[in-house]
Formats: sequence, structure tokens, C-alpha cells
Amino acid sequence: MSSLAANGHTESERRAERALRAVRPSAIDLAAAERAVTDLLVALGHDPAAEHLADTPRRVAGAYAELLTPQAFDLTTFPNEEGYDELVLARDIPFQSLCAHHLLPFHGTAHVGYIPGDRILGLSKLARVVELFARGLQVQERLTKQVAGWLEDHVQPKGVGVVLEAEHLCMSLRGVRAQGSTTVTSAVHGLLRDDGRSRQEFFALTGVNR
Ligand SMILES: [Zn+2]
Repeated sequence: MSSLAANGHTESERRAERALRAVRPSAIDLAAAERAVTDLLVALGHDPAAEHLADTPRRVAGAYAELLTPQAFDLTTFPNEEGYDELVLARDIPFQSLCAHHLLPFHGTAHVGYIPGDRILGLSKLARVVELFARGLQVQERLTKQVAGWLEDHVQPKGVGVVLEAEHLCMSLRGVRAQGSTTVTSAVHGLLRDDGRSRQEFFALTGVNR
């Protein structure tokens, strides 16, 4: 019989854990971005030499670089030795992203669930996968599909489901000015798509029907 290690996993589990380094490369030229922000200020009728704007190009370039650069992480998975075959759901994961159409933020919460196959993964990793794709120029539909697709490819669960609820500043600050309105998108694969009971449970637990 194997002994329990400090983190609650058995020794054999620890040996069998598999880690995959998840990195999405970004090619950001900060100096070029600063020059472009200076040009944008001029184009918008402002004087970039004005005292209160002097440091703006550097700040803006840095802010966009941060919003577009996901942190690398190790996706650690473990063998599903208990044969757990019910839904695992991480709810209300906060995320922020940048709208590809307006370069304005959209932000909200993600609900990510899966039904394990042969392997399970650390719960915090579900939030990491959301961040991996949220840090980029995105449209919400694509972000939703990318998170679901990535989990399907890398964890090979029996089912995976992703629901995103977000407020888009390009909608709430300009255009129709629909303040407080949220956009909901979902992507479901496998049992969460095809099995009525699992699908119903998933959407009930995400609370999207509320
Ligand atoms: Zn937009």
C-alpha cells in the first residue's frame, strides 16, 4: 500500500504525474509600441510632449504588453485512479481580455468543467488555461472554443464544457452603451454535449440559466 505524500497524493500518483509546459509566445516590440502610441496621440489631436502625456506612451505600451502576455504554467495531470467519472467544475473564474475589434477590455467570469477520462488535473490549472487564452486579442466566442479545445486535446476528458460571461467595454462605454449587459458564450464537447443529463447538470451548476 502506498503512503500519502504531504500534498495528499500517493507516492505512485506523484511518480505518474505528467506535466506539460503551456506557453503561448508573444512577439511584442515595446519600443515600437511606444512610438505608435505617440503617433496615436498626435493623430487624436493631442501633444505627446505635454507634461501630463510625457510618460503615456511607455505606460500604454507596458499595459498592453501585460494584457497580451500570458504567464507560462505547467499543466500537471494525474492518473484517475479512483475512476471518478462525474463532473468537475471550477466556477466564477475571473478573467480579463482584450477585444480584437476595439482593443478595449472585456472582462467577466469563466466556468470550466470536465468529466475525467484516464487523467485528472489540478483545479487551479483550469483557471490557468483560461488566462492562457484570455491574454491576447480575442473575441469571446473564439476564447470560449479555444479553452474547451485545449482541454480536450491535452487532458482527453470524457466531456468538457466552458461558459464565459463577460461585459465588453466596447459595448458599455460606446456605441449602444449597453451598461451592465453581459454576453454569454459556451462550448461543450463529448458527454457534456451529447448526454442530456450531464449537459443539464453542467448548465444548471454554472448558473447560466438563472
Ligand atoms: Zn469590441
